Amino acid sequence: MTRIFYDTEFLDDGRTIDLISIGMVADDGRELYAVSSQFDQGAVRRHGWLMANVWPSLPILKNPRGTRGMDRIDVTAPDVHPRAQIARMVERFILETPDPQLWAYYAAYDHVAMAQLWGPMSNLPHGIPMQTDDLVTEAKRLGLTPDDLPKQEAGHHNAIADARHNLVMAQYLDSVARSR
Ligand SMILES: [Mg+2]
Repeated sequence: MTRIFYDTEFLDDGRTIDLISIGMVADDGRELYAVSSQFDQGAVRRHGWLMANVWPSLPILKNPRGTRGMDRIDVTAPDVHPRAQIARMVERFILETPDPQLWAYYAAYDHVAMAQLWGPMSNLPHGIPMQTDDLVTEAKRLGLTPDDLPKQEAGHHNAIADARHNLVMAQYLDSVARSR
């Protein structure tokens, strides 16, 4: 079994979960990071929290006239891809992993944001796990709360930085589990 720790950033309007970015880190050291060229940038610009916390670390093409409202995702940046391509990249990454197990932190929305890369639930490719394990549940199982876990130093809400920190939290939980 090989664990894949991942994180997504997304726009959630209560009806849809629009993927902005995804980061994945496998126990064997492989990493994947991708930003969608297709999320609703106008809706993100109207979303204060996403503008403050997520937008700044995305590959942005600055408006030369300096009006932040007109900044756009740089679709020529190497990490930026259409959703269909991200779906193929994520599928390959997971299927290259022997006996893959997916893990995230407060995982429910991440699982849906990722699984919808392939459309409805029934389209999930063979070999992609149908659920994501939650680091919060593992913490609870060990009698801990999220506050007991290692704190992230930098890069909050950048999907690959958050995925790397998920690995750090998992390694901490592994050490707690071993010490019991
Ligand atoms: Mg995140």
